[in-house]
Amino acid sequence: MKLEKFPRSTLGFWPTPVVALDRLSDHLRGPRIYMKRDDQSGLALGGNKTRKLEFLFGDAMERGCDCVLTAGAGQSNHCRQTAAAAAALGLGCHVLLGGAEPAVAQGNLLLDRLLGAQVHWMGAHRKGEDVERVAEDLRGQGRRPYVIPYGGSNPRGALGFVRAAEELASQTEQAGLDIDHVVFASSSGGTHAGLLVGAMRCGADYELLGIRIDKEDTAGKPFAGEILDLACRTASLLELEVVIDEAMVQLDESVLGDGYGVVGDLEREAISLVARLEGIVLDPVYTGRAMAGLIRRVRAEQFDSQEHVLFWHTGGIPAVFTYADALQAPATAPAQ
Ligand SMILES: *Cc1c(COP(=O)(O)O)cnc(C)c1O
Repeated sequence: MKLEKFPRSTLGFWPTPVVALDRLSDHLRGPRIYMKRDDQSGLALGGNKTRKLEFLFGDAMERGCDCVLTAGAGQSNHCRQTAAAAAALGLGCHVLLGGAEPAVAQGNLLLDRLLGAQVHWMGAHRKGEDVERVAEDLRGQGRRPYVIPYGGSNPRGALGFVRAAEELASQTEQAGLDIDHVVFASSSGGTHAGLLVGAMRCGADYELLGIRIDKEDTAGKPFAGEILDLACRTASLLELEVVIDEAMVQLDESVLGDGYGVVGDLEREAISLVARLEGIVLDPVYTGRAMAGLIRRVRAEQFDSQEHVLFWHTGGIPAVFTYADALQAPATAPAQ
């Protein structure tokens, strides 16, 4: 089935640029590294969730919903982009955040409030455990809520990354660029599943490598299995007859550090290297960790120096400012 058959609300600026990271590639003396700039997606400071939200809000609008609900961590990039999308389309927005209300709203939380979202504090629940109960309350008040899952990761949201794989294919074709590996942060699985299906659909021959960010499994299911399941359901939503097996879901679980959202030396070094060599800002939770995973592999000579590796910058910029202390700790300074 064609992607155009699915309702979509345009929320971002596409295509996002693909840039060559020459100074980083030279410094690491490994493969040539490129970057897909979804941090520049254009929706309220950008990020990968914009792609999923285009299809999710398309569906919400078609169903005549008047508000959306979603969930995430206190500094959720997904919730902030959802709040921006709801504002742009004139829908109400409820975000269910993990933790307790801080004394001062910073980063993504500050933006959630500026964008007019109603924030609910959920304590230990940061993955939408209570979203149906809040939706039911809203229905009781005569509202028509649309529930967006944690990270926007269901088959409809993943269509955003099926589309992204097509976008990348047309960019690389135009540039005459042959990508061998695509590396990205993987956390709720929608980016990974969508790219898997999208790459198959457009016959791309690069290898996909998700760098796992969050060591906690959701609902007790192993993460790779969850990605596989989501990829299969996304393919069937598209009526695409393909076989996707577990071996196609490649996850690097070697940079989980001290858990979700905890910045260590690896993330600090990766963020500092990319900032000083390329003038590009990575975030502390996702892209900093994913880049640390990429750098570790380059240093372990797991890529051929003739290869081309594309790092997908999935955003997360507003969280940088909430990690001021952790990011100012000394990191190894790169060469000039
Ligand atoms: C959500 C998010 C990811 C992970 O994407 P998933 O589709 O949830 O796996 C990566 N980077 C950033 C900045 C994010 O906000």
